[in-house]
Amino acid sequence: MLVVMQQGATDEQVEHVIERLVDQGFDVHRSTGVTHTVLGGVGGRSDFDLAVFEVMEGVKEAHRIASPYKLASRSFRPAGTVVKVGGIEIGGEKIVVMAGPCDVETREQIEQAAEAVARAGAKVIRGGALQPRSSPYAFQGLGEEGLRLLRAAADRNGLLVASEVMDQTEIPLVSEYSDILQVGARNMRNFNLLRELGRQSKPVLLKRGIAATIEELLLSAEYILAGGNYQVILCERGIRTFETYTRYTMDISAIPVVKKLSHLPIIADPSHGTGRRDKVPAMARAAVAAGGDGLLIEVHPDPDRALSDGAQSLRPEQFSELMGQLRMIAPVVGRTI
Ligand code: PEP
Ligand code: MN
Repeated sequence: MLVVMQQGATDEQVEHVIERLVDQGFDVHRSTGVTHTVLGGVGGRSDFDLAVFEVMEGVKEAHRIASPYKLASRSFRPAGTVVKVGGIEIGGEKIVVMAGPCDVETREQIEQAAEAVARAGAKVIRGGALQPRSSPYAFQGLGEEGLRLLRAAADRNGLLVASEVMDQTEIPLVSEYSDILQVGARNMRNFNLLRELGRQSKPVLLKRGIAATIEELLLSAEYILAGGNYQVILCERGIRTFETYTRYTMDISAIPVVKKLSHLPIIADPSHGTGRRDKVPAMARAAVAAGGDGLLIEVHPDPDRALSDGAQSLRPEQFSELMGQLRMIAPVVGRTI
């Protein structure tokens, strides 16, 4: 249920509509745009009379939302969401690049990575400290020590931090060090985690599950939004198909599809999407050209010795070259880096 208020509707009129929605059993989420206030009603009775809302004072229009996600739908915030964090904006005019190693391994490694990605123009350093691994025998991350090293390297280079949180019990720890809380592909359907992230004030970077449809991704985002945290950034990171040449199949078309269906910003991760360093730049360029709001790219100072995802990690000089190319592509689609 969506109620769009008229331009200049008074607070009293808005409050009156909210009261009536609550009476009908709806949880009400308010989105205040530049011209219109939009009220999103979630849950509630299905037999309510739409016309009752349509004719209320100050109401411009009222709609039932057909999609299973409501707050994530574009109609809730037609102008789009700009996620603001630590002086940067994701979903605005600027394309935001987040880069760094798959995992924090050593102080030297993360310091070198931070220095290199900052110099090339990244705004956020990524790095796993609490990492979900398909194999229990793979490197599991440095834990809190990794987060500490990541934060220090970021601060020295004027970067923000994005790091993964695997479980709701880890949220306080990761929040202490990270500006953006990443939910990995394997956790896109960890509904307890999503629900808890809905109660946080830090932005969430939600990656698409390897076998998730776009609708399922948006429903996972809905869990976070329904809890009151509207700072959600979606990430297309490739899905599993019958193709085996690349690690996953990078679904570039998800970018314009999500842009149409949702107001949330979407970035692309061509590193996991392809699994191969030589394919990453082409997919990164494509994602920007397709309207992506940013990129998440693995960069390692010495990828041949990386403890995880070395084959898909760019060398610092390759990353720097890619950034130069993106600076040329961005203006073509009305953006800057
Ligand atoms: C990661 O970003 O390091 C990661 C584990 O990615 P994904 O969850 O997309 O596999
Ligand atoms: Mn990785």
